[in-house]
Amino acid sequence: MTLSRQAEQTHAVGERTHHFHGGLRLRHNKKISCQDPVRRPPLPELIVVPLLQHAGDMTEPLVRVGDTVLKGQQIGQCEPCAAVHSPVSGTIEAIEDRPMSHPSGQTGPCVIIRPDGKEQWIELKPLKNWLDASPDSLIAQMQSCGLAGLGGAVFPTHAKMRDGRDKNVHTLILNGVECEPYISCDEMLMREQPGKIILGARILRRALGAQRVVIAIEDQMGAVQKALTQSAEFANSENIRVVKVSTIYPEGGERQLIQVLTGLEVPVGGRPSDLGMVCQNVATAAAVTEAVVEGKPLIERYITVTGNGISHPRNFNALFGTSVSHLVDSCGGYTPDVARLVVGGPMMGYPLECDSAPVVKASNCVLALTQQDIAAPQPEMPCIRCGECARVCPAMLLPQQLHLQIRNELWKPVEAYGLSECIECGCCDFVCPSHIPLVDWFRFGKGELRKQALESEAAERARHRFENREARLVRIKQERAEKMTRRKQMLKDKDSQQDRIRASIQRAESKGKTMPDTRSSGKPDDA
Ligand code: SF4
Ligand code: SF4
Repeated sequence: MTLSRQAEQTHAVGERTHHFHGGLRLRHNKKISCQDPVRRPPLPELIVVPLLQHAGDMTEPLVRVGDTVLKGQQIGQCEPCAAVHSPVSGTIEAIEDRPMSHPSGQTGPCVIIRPDGKEQWIELKPLKNWLDASPDSLIAQMQSCGLAGLGGAVFPTHAKMRDGRDKNVHTLILNGVECEPYISCDEMLMREQPGKIILGARILRRALGAQRVVIAIEDQMGAVQKALTQSAEFANSENIRVVKVSTIYPEGGERQLIQVLTGLEVPVGGRPSDLGMVCQNVATAAAVTEAVVEGKPLIERYITVTGNGISHPRNFNALFGTSVSHLVDSCGGYTPDVARLVVGGPMMGYPLECDSAPVVKASNCVLALTQQDIAAPQPEMPCIRCGECARVCPAMLLPQQLHLQIRNELWKPVEAYGLSECIECGCCDFVCPSHIPLVDWFRFGKGELRKQALESEAAERARHRFENREARLVRIKQERAEKMTRRKQMLKDKDSQQDRIRASIQRAESKGKTMPDTRSSGKPDDA
């Protein structure tokens, strides 16, 4: 494809929808959690805020045990990543490791706050007139308010925006395609807060210097389209278009959505900004409005608590740090036949061992499944090379090949076959007639590659250290030798100087012997 043709296609984002390879049509199961309006659960007794909530480095705590904090006060600092703020006013009770909502199931450092119930805010610092604010100050405000992508990847918003602005993107895509079954928090947000999303879209567009905004929603979200379109018209905002796309899983993936909206693929190892686009979740846009217009840091999010294992499934606007058990209690508790807890959806979610884990920026859904929902585990059988997994893979990989290579620890071909491009969507798992847990193998393979990369990095660092040490020793030896030579030379010089002095003294003495005594000559009394 020529570059001009490509540019033409990227500028026509959403004018015509396209298809991506593979994918699955799944049952939505969203209605059960969309019956009631979103509400806030009662204030929990304890708030547990993990210090690592985003993609990137660990956040350092800015508070100590016994400190009192205000709602919205920054409690964690990580310069290039997203800041962490207190969701309540209260007292810091502890800073210790607690179970986190994370696929690893590990514990991690958390700030534990006992709320005082006063809900006293810090002094909020909104950007008074965002229309006059520079893109830099808008992005800086997003950073100081701790904004991270609420679609699941939790990539710091300011970093994505800076990348987009540096690459002069022309289109902002707001992703409202919540294609995984059961999850309905974005749909409820779009229904209830369309104005906030549209305003966020305008702020993001200004910060990027983009020309247009395309908001992508699923074709079964009729009420949402109306709400967003009306809000855009009300705001008299041009160049904001709401586009419906067919509900095929995993269409909400950034790369798949861009392909559907433009017909173009994001290059391997590249970013949407390479095609002139930046993609943000609709919930991130709403958070941008709160950060810029109200000065509010990111301390809460919409979350779906659903599944047949929950008495009364619904959506909450929950403070970060609220425990899953508190949310489930606020839904009337578990049903007697609950069998498994999952964070996220049934396709990409991960099992949660303990429901004391807190809501974090990445938590979009808590799914409680019953024994009936869970297929009885089938014994794994050998691959029959049916090719079904490759047919449904949205990343156009060959899952059967990847599986074979990982199983045989052939790490070089695994990389070459594009394991890193796997988005762990689970489509291949879902269709495999041999019940091979392909995604588990791919996660294991990625972990191994990461480990190997870390080991080779460590080996490289050790080699550098060794080489530097050797070079230093050689240098020291050389310097010592030079010093020694200089000293010897100095001693030699000194000896020869002393020789010269002695020689001149001798000469002088011998001259004194031969010469007449001038001291007595010519004096009158001598005569
Ligand atoms: S779907 Fe399963 S059995 Fe079929 S080729 Fe893929 S891994 Fe093999
Ligand atoms: S999990 Fe990975 S390999 Fe399997 S279908 Fe999804 S992207 Fe393809």
